[in-house]
Amino acid sequence: MPLTPMPSSFAVAPWRLTGVVYGALVNHAPQLAALGQAVHAAPYKAPPAHPVLQVRPRNTLCGPGSVVAVPAAVEVGASLGVVIGRTACRVSVDDAPGVIAGYAVVAELGLPPDNHYRPTVRLKARDGFTVIGPVVAASEIDDPDALAVQVLIGGQTAHQGHTGDRVRGVAELIAAVTEFMTLQPGDVLLLGADTPAPQARAGDAVAVAIEELGTLSFSLCEEQAAPAVPNDPPAVDGTDLPPRGPVARVAYAGAVHTARPHPQGLQLTDGRVLREDQVQWLPPLAVGTILALGLNYADHLKELSKELTVTAKDEPLVFLKGPGALVGHRGVTRRPAGVQFMHYECELAVVIGRTARHVSAKDAMAHVAGYTVCNDYAIRDYLENWYRPNLRVKNRDGATALGPWFVPVADVPDPHALALRTRVNGQTVQQGTTANMVNTIPALIEYLSSFMTLQAGDVILTGTPEGVVNVNEGDEVVCEIDGIGRLVNTIVGDGVFGR
Ligand code: CA
Repeated sequence: MPLTPMPSSFAVAPWRLTGVVYGALVNHAPQLAALGQAVHAAPYKAPPAHPVLQVRPRNTLCGPGSVVAVPAAVEVGASLGVVIGRTACRVSVDDAPGVIAGYAVVAELGLPPDNHYRPTVRLKARDGFTVIGPVVAASEIDDPDALAVQVLIGGQTAHQGHTGDRVRGVAELIAAVTEFMTLQPGDVLLLGADTPAPQARAGDAVAVAIEELGTLSFSLCEEQAAPAVPNDPPAVDGTDLPPRGPVARVAYAGAVHTARPHPQGLQLTDGRVLREDQVQWLPPLAVGTILALGLNYADHLKELSKELTVTAKDEPLVFLKGPGALVGHRGVTRRPAGVQFMHYECELAVVIGRTARHVSAKDAMAHVAGYTVCNDYAIRDYLENWYRPNLRVKNRDGATALGPWFVPVADVPDPHALALRTRVNGQTVQQGTTANMVNTIPALIEYLSSFMTLQAGDVILTGTPEGVVNVNEGDEVVCEIDGIGRLVNTIVGDGVFGR
């Protein structure tokens, strides 16, 4: 998936960044040590047992020389970026160096967090907040876990650190992440910054230097001074996202085809009619950033509010997922051996069709291309209280089913009046209506676009109603939204994958 360069003041990274950037958090050993007994107190209750990870979405990515707009003082986290060079699935510590193409100097910008429990994505998912470069080939670096790191703000040394102070070093982090999530060539895994990170302000020139890699320079400006994002032409160009009628993407006879519904199954654009089971269904569009809403249905919120101490009045609860988690209609999703509670979540997925930045709720629907159905699985056993929910719970390979059809916005008169339901082996287990969303689609677009640029192909998963129960190996799970589609998925065990 090629990444669209961001506003004109952002220099493009010096190599073709084609993947997704995942950052490790709470990976600074002295930071955890400094928290002392606090890591055992509520709400954390224990130190993180697995890597804490977040997606740094594509709107945040920019290269050396960029001018990044900031609303207030920002933390400048200096991080080593590991550029993946080959598909990495279940890679051992010993094999990890073999999947690395190179290393990058990365500045992870963020507004100061108020907690490590459920900090809002508004702090970090801001345009230009991940500055990347220069990049050096892996063969040039003897030991990535033994490099001096320096941050200069306004020419003065603001921080000195070392890549070696991590809870997990490069190879251990790759092994722990690829246990549940495949990294693709072009993906970048950030080792994480020292905490606390030094702070910089609008007007500051910033430099991050990592020994043997070089120096990354950029500057900060006031948000008002940032150039406006150019308006896209009205989205949807009629090829990938046609203005009327549902459309799917399927693999058949060695090629990827666009398909339309047909009484016998589906029809390819070349006229061939096929049964549903004759093709491999792909996610119905090339997905960019995935923004997933937690607790966005009144009934589900009521069900869990005691446990979670959130209310409908709070800021929308959003987390980010990577497109690698996706699987199409009629796909299989793995239930790891030994877990007690894996559940589905039937959700209306909103597809952005047109760049959206500072869009009011009143104008928001003009930025929607259409809709599809999502089944956003979670494994509750893996829930830890650090940056909840972590990617190990929600971003597993093949654990986010999407499809079958992309339905253009013109075909859905009212997206807030759709019945949705889930059936497991034919039995209805979850029922609701999109009328019960706490934050409506226009409200979500207004909120998200207030701090980040949404782009065509970004997807908002709008949350799930009450009624989630455990599913087991062999179960057929059908998520259905009236007027949008019927998404079928089957739960399988580890044996299907052979490793
Ligand atoms: Ca969800």
